[in-house]
Amino acid sequence: MSNDNKNKTAAAEAAPVSNFLRAIIDNDQAAGTYQRDGMPSVITRFPPEPNGYLHIGHAKSICLNFGLARDYDGRCHLRFDDTNPEKEDQEYVDSIMDSVKWLGFDWQQPAENGGGNHLYFASDYFDKFYAIAEHLITSGHAYVDSQSAEDMAANRGDFSKPGVNSPFRERSAAESLDLFRRMKAGEFKDGEHILRAKIDMASPNMNMRDPAIYRIRHAHHHRTGDAWCIYPMYDYAHPLEDAIENISHSICTLEFQDHRPFYDWIIERAAEGGFVQRPVPRQYEFARLNLTYVVTSKRKLRKLVEDGIVSGWDDPRMPTVVGIRRRGYTPESIQAFCERIGVTRSDGWIDYSTLEGCLREDLDPKAARATAVLRPLKLIIDNFPEAENIACSAPVHPHHPERGNREFTIGKELWIEQEDFMEEPVKGYFRLFPGNKVRLRYGYVVECTGCDKDENGKVIAVHCNYFADSKSGTEGSANYKVKGNIHWVNAADAMEVEVRLYDRLFTDANPDAGGKDFMTLLNPASLETLRAYVEPGLHNIAPDTRLQFERHGYFVTDRVDSTVGKPVFNRITTLKDSFGK
Ligand code: ATP
Ligand code: MG
Repeated sequence: MSNDNKNKTAAAEAAPVSNFLRAIIDNDQAAGTYQRDGMPSVITRFPPEPNGYLHIGHAKSICLNFGLARDYDGRCHLRFDDTNPEKEDQEYVDSIMDSVKWLGFDWQQPAENGGGNHLYFASDYFDKFYAIAEHLITSGHAYVDSQSAEDMAANRGDFSKPGVNSPFRERSAAESLDLFRRMKAGEFKDGEHILRAKIDMASPNMNMRDPAIYRIRHAHHHRTGDAWCIYPMYDYAHPLEDAIENISHSICTLEFQDHRPFYDWIIERAAEGGFVQRPVPRQYEFARLNLTYVVTSKRKLRKLVEDGIVSGWDDPRMPTVVGIRRRGYTPESIQAFCERIGVTRSDGWIDYSTLEGCLREDLDPKAARATAVLRPLKLIIDNFPEAENIACSAPVHPHHPERGNREFTIGKELWIEQEDFMEEPVKGYFRLFPGNKVRLRYGYVVECTGCDKDENGKVIAVHCNYFADSKSGTEGSANYKVKGNIHWVNAADAMEVEVRLYDRLFTDANPDAGGKDFMTLLNPASLETLRAYVEPGLHNIAPDTRLQFERHGYFVTDRVDSTVGKPVFNRITTLKDSFGK
């Protein structure tokens, strides 16, 4: 390939994949829709409710929103949608901030982009929400409804039946305002009154049938304490949060499509009243991420934690950001995954192997290689000099000689994988069996002579002889042509470690899909813990270090349970796609 072509390919790969949102933004850029003084023309936001830990679906939304802001020289706000006091907590706020940063994004703008710390809390707008609600009442767009919850539900109608106006719908603005102020003052119990937008009880869109906008909730809020006993509804607060923050493109998942007319309605009223600036934000919907073998509802993830199915929110089998991180996934691989699956408006399932593929592509060129014997079997080289250990070395990375070598030794007694010996080989088996020669990777060629068994007939040691002139890297080695090439560690210097092999958490590809009880679809073998042997150079490996164990896959030293000198390895993924097999 010519240099020119190479550059072109690289540029094409680096260019963001186009999607319908980029097309919309491009149009807005061309039309100058969001040209505003001192503000970028693309302002997006990621608006989690701090009621749980983020999962891989949220990661898609984060990559999308922060990615668009990055690519259009805009900015993305991290906004906590904390309008639901009972379920929210500071613990979740902290974890969410940590996860966003880990994924590689920042709400703090660098100085050259105008600076600014774009971290927001919806609860900081409670005064403004309240003022807008009073404005809606006085301008005839909202009323206090005093129906019982049952009557309100019954009068709402359904998809085939229009709703019925509340008997309180025509009460005067003055009366509604008085009641609303008394709601705020704490004069009423939860549910006694509710503030509703006055739109159209016969609207074909249920969300436009006088939606509730404020309810009484005598509840402690994790940030505002007991200052409020009325709280805004999500559908009321969310559009106003966007408008207050001058968001340009408000991106959410498809289930909010039917909420869009109210989104526009409420922002228009707030803009008319001068509470928010024009141009106003617009909402766009995309398909949420569904990943096979994974559940991504906070409620279901919480059940897995509370029932002790997993060790916690950060269990390496969990699809939470903290779980994926502990499993060993890199932020780069998650970003690449989100880029690859793209953004569409049609629902579908993404195969879990796509995520694993992104991890392999990220780690293959980076991860140091090492040797681990996961299911050890003794190999004894009978003709090896007694008590001698001969130096061997292997490249840290096969394509990066500049990264140097790892050093270890070979001796008379080694550990090999149980599966690398068969007393009676099946057809096509090239590894150790009596009479066959294999290369001990980076060491010598050996010829198998037999094995020892215990009283039950189980193989407990394999015997062989080595060829002293066959050492890898020496001239003599070229004289040996063998088909098998197996890995090993020297029993004299190997380190015994704990290795955790993870498999999918569910036996069903769509544990979340309609009607299924995900708790009955658990994979009982999703975690296997092994005592393994690794090469001696890993003695001082730090927690949270990724590497490739040759022939086995990509591993990471568990960031929670590892200490220097006593690593615990998590398998992130195998070398090849074995998923679904
Ligand atoms: P859950 O249903 O698990 O409780 P949620 O949607 O209620 O999740 P929020 O904290 O409200 O969680 O979500 C924050 C943002 O993440 C929202 O903009 C939402 O659209 C987006 N999001 C949540 N789940 C997914 C998903 N599976 N795929 C893409 N985006 C998602
Ligand atoms: Mg939500």
